[in-house]
Amino acid sequence: MSLTNRILISMVAGILIGSLLNLMMHSSGLSDAFRVAVDDYLIHGLLDFVGRIFVASLKLLVVPLVLVSLICGSSSLGDSARMGPIAVKTLVFYLGTTAVAISLALVFAVFISPGSNVQLTSEALFAAKEAPPLIDVLVNIFPSNPFNALAEGKMLQIIVFALLFGYAISHAGEAGRRIASFFRDMEVIVMKMVGIMMELAPYGVFALLAKLFSTMGISAIVDLAAYFLTVLAVLLVHALVVYSLLLKFFSGLSPRILMTKMRSVWAFAFSTASSGATLPITLRTVERKMGVHNSVAGFTVPLGATINMDGTAIMQGVATVFIAQVYGVDLSMTDFVTVILTATLASIGTAAVPGVGLITLAMVLEQAGLPVEGIGLIIGVDRLLDMVRTAVNVTGDATVSAIVGKSENQLDEQVWLNPKADLEPNNDNPIEQEMPTA
Ligand code: ASP
Repeated sequence: MSLTNRILISMVAGILIGSLLNLMMHSSGLSDAFRVAVDDYLIHGLLDFVGRIFVASLKLLVVPLVLVSLICGSSSLGDSARMGPIAVKTLVFYLGTTAVAISLALVFAVFISPGSNVQLTSEALFAAKEAPPLIDVLVNIFPSNPFNALAEGKMLQIIVFALLFGYAISHAGEAGRRIASFFRDMEVIVMKMVGIMMELAPYGVFALLAKLFSTMGISAIVDLAAYFLTVLAVLLVHALVVYSLLLKFFSGLSPRILMTKMRSVWAFAFSTASSGATLPITLRTVERKMGVHNSVAGFTVPLGATINMDGTAIMQGVATVFIAQVYGVDLSMTDFVTVILTATLASIGTAAVPGVGLITLAMVLEQAGLPVEGIGLIIGVDRLLDMVRTAVNVTGDATVSAIVGKSENQLDEQVWLNPKADLEPNNDNPIEQEMPTA
């Protein structure tokens, strides 16, 4: 059975077993001692243990992979004068798709009106963390110490350093060629590590989801069904309709192929709720299954995982309208425009880890003059939505990478059209085969 299918089966099994455990833990027929034992040894024991090791091993690959991939990509592009246009195109697409996502969310939320029948309860307590000023966010992109950036996993700083390093390699003659070949070898090795990790994914995905569903409160979802379903509907429309139209229109590539190739990435995004932890898998899929050359994917995917969060923006759009409705505040046209702008910027500042979208939502609410405590209303259903919106976030990264790759002639259509790309033994690294040997 293919790895993708094994991962998808373990995902479904994790959800089912987790839900069964949840029911079991709340049923009155079992003794307290048994329940405590299941909770201690299985849910917060074995499942927690396996899940945490799995996430840690994914995160372990992120910094080396981003560094090495970007250096390879930018060093092969450095002297072709394409770096600038690729960067501009990618940024325009990332910001543009986020603005579309949030606008769609606002339209749906105003139309469906999920907050109109919700009574304000005293539970709405949320202590917002202060969001850093925008200027600091921008200045912080530039590292003063690259080793510090690497050690702390500061993604945008790593991206800036790697781009500069790769660019310098491409202009450094013989020394540059030697170092470039070292990094190309490193990339093959780090990608191999990603492949090894993927083999363990069925266990990790199962453990994460079984633990999560066994401890998740379902009642909050029932209470907030209108909000929950509105966010879910917009996420699905954006992922399935908007991305498909964009891909078809800007590149002529088949959306169905993109969706099929994304299945295992979705399982990672859904179970970890972190586009950062999913990054190694997204990058491997975009390069090896979709055939986008490393010179584009090495830049677009890490950048996307860091700044492109369409799913998060959708949640923020619906949440803003929902909170305004619950508190009985009318939003003006100016408020809507403010929300679109701030949520697009907030998406850049949202770290690619679970739950951060809720923190940057505070910034959006403040700009729209809404009470930040409103976040307390939706916190109960956020984890499940976080999982789905993370899957949307990574789909956006892959879609834009394919569009930019195709437009730059850096997408190998044979790999794109091959449903088994990445699985064939002799097709281990189609990208690498095209690379000039030093
Ligand atoms: N979990 C999301 C991600 O990693 C961010 C968020 O919306 O909280 O993409």
